[in-house]
Amino acid sequence: MAEIYDLHCHSTASDGALAPGEVVRRAYEHGVTSLALTDHDTTAGLAEAQHSAWVTGMKFIPGIELSANWSGQCFHIVGLGINPAYPPLAQATRNLQNTRLERAEKIALKLEKKRISGALEAVTKAAGDGMITRTHFADFLLAQNLVASQQEAFDRFLAKGKPAYVATSWVELELAVSWITQSGGVAVLAHPLRYNLSANVMKRLLTVFKEAGGKGIEVVTGRCNADEIQRVANFAVRFELAGSTGSDFHNPDNQWVELGRLAPLPKNITPVWELFE
Ligand code: AMP
Ligand code: MN
Ligand code: MN
Ligand code: MN
Repeated sequence: MAEIYDLHCHSTASDGALAPGEVVRRAYEHGVTSLALTDHDTTAGLAEAQHSAWVTGMKFIPGIELSANWSGQCFHIVGLGINPAYPPLAQATRNLQNTRLERAEKIALKLEKKRISGALEAVTKAAGDGMITRTHFADFLLAQNLVASQQEAFDRFLAKGKPAYVATSWVELELAVSWITQSGGVAVLAHPLRYNLSANVMKRLLTVFKEAGGKGIEVVTGRCNADEIQRVANFAVRFELAGSTGSDFHNPDNQWVELGRLAPLPKNITPVWELFE
């Protein structure tokens, strides 16, 4: 049986549709042999997921996807094999929960200005104890029939430059990488092609990321084609970074992204799991 590593996915602890245990069971059913749960800015789902993985016998890697700022832009840093009890990391997740609540209040005010009311109440309820994300706002707009899809909610309201966008101070990229590393984990730059960087800025980013202790880059992500895999693999080789594979699964209704549905890592790339196995 082939090993399938899915090292990036979400649960109801952030913007996923399934509870942590349900994510694990679904991954197992889809043939995943090693799974990392990587919720946005929180480790709250890890204990439940770890327990479910233990029941199935599947290997589980505790993870997180930290929102980080560098050069005026937001980047996502996946931490794999982290220790959620490491005090600076635990403190950071508590702070980020507040950051997200405050941002949600501002987004809701901006929506009010567009005569859309009730957003804060709806997203707070939907997120429950978990992190409030823009995905929750997208779902609210969808439920109100103000948009026809999540994508349209981002394109018309929530994306950068749109009326309900709120610039946010997350954590400094170098700090995010160092917390992950010092807690015993491996820092991976998530979905590198989603930031629309020029070759020059990408080079600067990867230099800073490596200097901070970053060790990996997501070479295979959900919905990427062979050309994109090759482009990121070239960065991995050039910057001597290990390669990760992760679906970024959020929701079973999205038929394009499924747990474990991933192309293999190109043969010339060092697998990131060699760094923590
Ligand atoms: P946040 O971290 O709260 O800003 O929310 C970011 C999340 O929103 C991402 O992790 C995606 O799940 C989702 N997202 C961002 N951009 C889009 C988009 N254009 N379409 C659909 N979902 C998106
Ligand atoms: Mn998300
Ligand atoms: Mn992300
Ligand atoms: Mn993600």
